[in-house]
Amino acid sequence: MTSSEAEAGRILIVDDSATIGRVVTQAVSSVVDLPVDYARSLTECEQLLSEHHHQYRVAVVDLSLPDAPDGEAVDMVLSFGIATIVLTGSLDSETHDRISAKPIVDYVTKQHPGSIAIVQKSVLHTLRNMTCKVLIVDGSSSFRTYIKTILLTQRLQVVEADSSEAALHAIDQQQDISVVITDYDIPDMDGISLCMKLRSNHASTKLAIIGVTGSKDGFVGVRFFKAGADDIMRKPFLVEEFTSRVNARLDYLESLRTIQDQAHRDYLTKLYNRRYLFEAGNILFSSAKRGHIQLLIAMVDIDFFKRINDTYGHDVGDLAIVAVSRTLAKEFRTTDIVARMGGEEFCIVSVNNDSPVEIMERLRRHIAALEIPINDKESLSMTVSIGVTNTLCDTLDDMINLADQALYKAKHGGRNQVVLIQADNASAARA
Ligand code: GH3
Ligand code: MG
Ligand code: MG
Repeated sequence: MTSSEAEAGRILIVDDSATIGRVVTQAVSSVVDLPVDYARSLTECEQLLSEHHHQYRVAVVDLSLPDAPDGEAVDMVLSFGIATIVLTGSLDSETHDRISAKPIVDYVTKQHPGSIAIVQKSVLHTLRNMTCKVLIVDGSSSFRTYIKTILLTQRLQVVEADSSEAALHAIDQQQDISVVITDYDIPDMDGISLCMKLRSNHASTKLAIIGVTGSKDGFVGVRFFKAGADDIMRKPFLVEEFTSRVNARLDYLESLRTIQDQAHRDYLTKLYNRRYLFEAGNILFSSAKRGHIQLLIAMVDIDFFKRINDTYGHDVGDLAIVAVSRTLAKEFRTTDIVARMGGEEFCIVSVNNDSPVEIMERLRRHIAALEIPINDKESLSMTVSIGVTNTLCDTLDDMINLADQALYKAKHGGRNQVVLIQADNASAARA
């Protein structure tokens, strides 16, 4: 097995009912882009584990199987360190205690009418949590360890701090911390003051804060909220209460990120939109003005696109736009900005490229080589014209105008070609 196979990951479902196995497999496959394996017995589970145990990221395992009536399959999957969601027929207090003693991520009662959706959500949470970091701030090392164990079981990454100073340092150093769980009683500053300090430069939209208090005084909770905490927990709490609150904060942050990402992207191609191009492009432009980076701007426009629409219809036209977008996205780095300006026109802001013409020529050739299948017999090919400049003008708009002028020349020069314009000074851009 190569390391890339291990990274790719798989999901394992174990249940003796073929119906449940099929429904859960389908439900998980519909939301996760990983292969899902199904085992209907401990023996089959053992076999799959011997083949793929390094690859399993999450397993959904029935507590009782004919050849494993007492949670043996759950124990076996857990022994490989795989994040495990337990399926149980019923949930009485005795079963709850038995399941809860195991380091599982979650358990789902099969009788629950919404159980399939719960399994889906739990698998998604588990995969998501593997990429999220939580900071625990507490003066008591035993309480930190208790919380840490719960969070690690939820597959979250955990950072610990025993004082406010250590917490502020950790937040400063590790920008990817998304949740802070702070106790009220911390040695050098109380949790509420820490919360206020954190909020002075970390918005609720980026960093969640959960305050924890053992005090019977309700006013501590009030003060936590007023200091900017998103939630509070009173000790002692149920493990289920704690994990669902942490997951709720992570869900909220995740949906904000999704909404923001959608606002920045074009619906058809998923490339950045025109608005984002100007927003992020101006940041790169300022950096180029300070001499930190070199900038290149290219305008790419599909040739005779109207003919494609007229001949094959709008849907095929859309396919062509998507195919060009994919090629563009592949050709440039994630630090570059590839945007759809509208219709069949794209703009690229690329950083530190020494050979604009060669890079654009390569792009032009790759697009010309595309063959987009339209039906069983026919495929479609197309060309693009590209205008490019690496002249640093007075403004980003001027640079885009210059690339536009170059595109105009490429069109008039016969299309399917790259034209570079380098102006001596910014005034040329406005000519
Ligand atoms: P040129 O070689 O000069 O660029 O000619 P062209 O036909 O590519 O350019 P023109 O600007 O005349 O036509 C662009 C067409 O693109 C017109 C418009 O109907 C079509 N279009 C704009 N947006 C979309 C879209 O999202 N999907 C599809 N299928 N067509 C679109
Ligand atoms: Mg065109
Ligand atoms: Mg056009």
